[in-house]
Amino acid sequence: MSAKTVLGEVKEVKLAIELIALGARLQFLEAEVGLSRERLIKLYKELKGVSPPKGLLPFSTDWYMTWLANIHSSMFYNIYRFMLDQAKESKLQALIKSYRLYQEQSEYQGGEVVLDFTRAYTMVRFFDSDMLQLNSCSRCGGQFVAHAHDTKTGYVCVLCRPPSRAGKARPPKHVAAEAMVPVSHAHALDRSGFGLPLNSGGVH
Ligand SMILES: [Zn+2]
Repeated sequence: MSAKTVLGEVKEVKLAIELIALGARLQFLEAEVGLSRERLIKLYKELKGVSPPKGLLPFSTDWYMTWLANIHSSMFYNIYRFMLDQAKESKLQALIKSYRLYQEQSEYQGGEVVLDFTRAYTMVRFFDSDMLQLNSCSRCGGQFVAHAHDTKTGYVCVLCRPPSRAGKARPPKHVAAEAMVPVSHAHALDRSGFGLPLNSGGVH
């Protein structure tokens, strides 16, 4: 990290502020930002008014499989892949930008932000360590988060086959369905110019 020069340090502080605003945990900040633990804690307290929570929650891959969580996780991961593969962002920038877009999209729809930043980051790590994979839905063609090594043939996603209780919790419907379509099928430039078919549902 580039915290050795004044400008480098300003950059790291800016990055830390950005990450804290997104909800990043201290462990994540320590791994990604070139500032001392003490300075990060101080910054965190200044911004949030409280000390950073201790310990990473022990998430399992199962959380990502429940109905609403799967929709949100899949939406986020599709955006993340786009940022990485098409927009050629670094892993950290892809994470920051895709998380922000995911948040925006959930809020546009008046929906809840189900996937918090730590869960989004943990999910990326699960993909990197081959514990999760994307399955293509045999009905809608969308890409959905699934356990690694699950059979991909005849897979039907949670949007095409929602559980009966699903009617109560409203998913960000247009966004979810459209964001999951592979990027090669993208047809509309959204207002941020990322080329994601996210806003074609016409909800603003
Ligand atoms: Zn489907």
